[in-house]
Amino acid sequence: MTEQDHVVFTEFARSADAFENERTDLRPRTFDEYPGQERVVENLKIYTQAARLRGKMLDHVLLHGPPGLGKTTLAGIIAQTMDCSLKITAGPVIERPADLMGLLANLESNTVLFIDEIHRLPSHVEEVLYSAMEDGRLDVMIGQGPSARSVSFDLKPFTLIGATTRAGALSAPLRDRFGIVEHLDYYSTQSLGIIIRRSARLMNLILDESAALVLAARCRGTPRIANMLLKRVMDFALVNGKQIVDVEGVESALNRLGVDARGLARMDREFLRIMRDRHDGGPVGLESIAAALHEEKTTLEDVYEPYLVSIGFINRTPRGRSLSASGSAHLKETESQFGASF
Ligand code: ADP
Repeated sequence: MTEQDHVVFTEFARSADAFENERTDLRPRTFDEYPGQERVVENLKIYTQAARLRGKMLDHVLLHGPPGLGKTTLAGIIAQTMDCSLKITAGPVIERPADLMGLLANLESNTVLFIDEIHRLPSHVEEVLYSAMEDGRLDVMIGQGPSARSVSFDLKPFTLIGATTRAGALSAPLRDRFGIVEHLDYYSTQSLGIIIRRSARLMNLILDESAALVLAARCRGTPRIANMLLKRVMDFALVNGKQIVDVEGVESALNRLGVDARGLARMDREFLRIMRDRHDGGPVGLESIAAALHEEKTTLEDVYEPYLVSIGFINRTPRGRSLSASGSAHLKETESQFGASF
């Protein structure tokens, strides 16, 4: 095993461990335990059922949408439904074509290979996937120069599940090789309420229904944030000796965490403030906002901006981003309630 192989496989093991640990915790294991994303779940149930009836592997799946919405979780559910084992890796750790070839060649039969952040695979690595996905084979060049020749060998049946926060960053040849493409969107408050109550039950926390809905409205439509905030709410309840968490308990914990009534945290508000205070509400390029926030442009694009756009606080225009009237009103309201440093 080369040093690079070691890096790839260590990452493999690390992700798989993290996945397993989470699994015993809060991660749903079946479609029925997975509230929300109804259309996606309905489709995947049909596709997995059809593949099983045919006795074939499921076609390759591309899941796209903002982080924390359940793409990895769905990969686990698909693997479980198809009676397959699951291997998890991520685009940025596969640096060389040989890494990916080794990984594919070593897959057991009936494996679901999950590649997170698949848009970050370097293009010369990505090309390895083309014949693997389309024909189930690897084409390997042996030798160099005029004596070089291509040798192909068959792979064991596998399903690739790619996850990405930006489907637009995927090259057309890769995107076209996925037979199933599904988009995950932010969750409704109602679905998040169900997720939060299930998580609370698993954590032995008694949370009343209205408290679950308050939390659901303040977690940016994202189950990962819901679970994280729930754990903090639980900490406050434990330390305050509360057996049952009510609306007041949730509100006071979230206020202390700097999470406002729309679920925005300090970074989101800074994003809006920079647009308002330094650029007169915009339009302004994302690069300028990123520089002022000391943050990567891609992080703003993948993590912060999509939610602010989805709730109408930011408008994307051809000349840049601008702060909407509702975004500006929200900032004013939180500042008058909590002060400008909140
Ligand atoms: P992604 O891969 O899209 O970043 P994950 O699958 O890692 O998101 O999910 C993040 C967290 O949210 C996990 O803790 C998972 O258990 C939880 N989660 C995601 N979707 C759901 C859902 N529909 N129901 C319950 N929990 C969910």
